[in-house]
Amino acid sequence: MIYLDNAASTQIHEDVLESMLPYLKEQYGNASSIHRYGRLAHKAIEKARKQIASLINADSSEILITSGGTESNNTVLMGIFRDDNSNHIVTSSIEHDAILEPCKKLTQNGFNVDYLPVDKFGTVDPSELENHLSDNTCLVSIMFGNNEVGTVQKISQIAKICNERKILFHTDAVQAVGKIPIDVKELGVDLLSISSHKLHGPKGIGALYIKNGIKIDPVILGGGQERGLRSGTENVANIVGFGQACEIAKNNLDDNMEYVAKLRDMLIEKVLDEIPEVTLNGDPKSRLPNNAHFTFLGVNGEDLIIKLDEYGIAASTGSACSVNTQRASHVLQAMGFSHEQITGSLRLTMGVFNNEKDIEQTVTSLKKIVEELRAFSPFKEKYSFGSKI
Ligand SMILES: *Cc1c(COP(=O)(O)O)cnc(C)c1O
Repeated sequence: MIYLDNAASTQIHEDVLESMLPYLKEQYGNASSIHRYGRLAHKAIEKARKQIASLINADSSEILITSGGTESNNTVLMGIFRDDNSNHIVTSSIEHDAILEPCKKLTQNGFNVDYLPVDKFGTVDPSELENHLSDNTCLVSIMFGNNEVGTVQKISQIAKICNERKILFHTDAVQAVGKIPIDVKELGVDLLSISSHKLHGPKGIGALYIKNGIKIDPVILGGGQERGLRSGTENVANIVGFGQACEIAKNNLDDNMEYVAKLRDMLIEKVLDEIPEVTLNGDPKSRLPNNAHFTFLGVNGEDLIIKLDEYGIAASTGSACSVNTQRASHVLQAMGFSHEQITGSLRLTMGVFNNEKDIEQTVTSLKKIVEELRAFSPFKEKYSFGSKI
């Protein structure tokens, strides 16, 4: 199998798994216990917290450990402004459902939410943001890198606008952390979401960066773990693995970024070169190093994925969540894509465990499959590929 769905989840790193095993076996203590089992668990968690903080140049005290990107995003939206009367939020129309769904809920509870539009590349215009801010705005949340088309936003520019107005700025950086250098201090963000399983760590664990001095109300109440911000007995093994994954990502960041981007560029070049009637979606330059997203006109993306799977290649149309909800991608809709363009879309996301041979084999298979599917396409007559087959 060739795994090209690294935006959905990633293979756990061997050293990450190794680091976790003792905490699934003999080190099973509760981190709140006073005896040595408890102390060891506590120590392991604090070491991991340092590793997580270090990856984004934060202080350990600014890292809240959560169950993943979804919970981190929910914690921001549900917990951030309880002792404030302001009730206006600005986000974008291309956010992950883990932002959009809580926003929907907040709207039912009296909040006003503005969804900023994007251009055809999926980019938010920072000056458009300025037009939407008011004295009543309590939070701006704009994602770092898009999980479907890979477009990277102008985060430091957006953060600056929010800072000048003293409005809290959150970014869902789940797709970006561990892939591109992120320095929360340099960027000027107040809150930032991370997920472990997107950077070769275990699933069900993640973090929220909360800049020192920013207050949030806990969403989960109980025994007071995580300084009262998130109660519940800590998942020590997962936290340790997450920390280890962050350290590995940090130590190899530049090399990995270069390596993966080279594979991505090779794939993009070959696909555009060798297959007719195909377009690259998302920003051609400002994009995540691991993301290639295409539209093959006259082909159904889901048929493409099923065929690719038969050829031993794991791909996706865009977001794992769209499978559950069975609706057209809201990201591509916001980018102004036609129904046909959305239908023909395919996302290939690579990672450090891929190589050039994977890319070559994928292009060869893709070429064959697209030709085959187009031979049966109802749009055959409409496009130039109809005559080439
Ligand atoms: C995967 C993803 C999430 C959700 O993270 P989980 O840890 O799977 O809950 C949120 N936002 C983005 C952009 C993602 O890609």
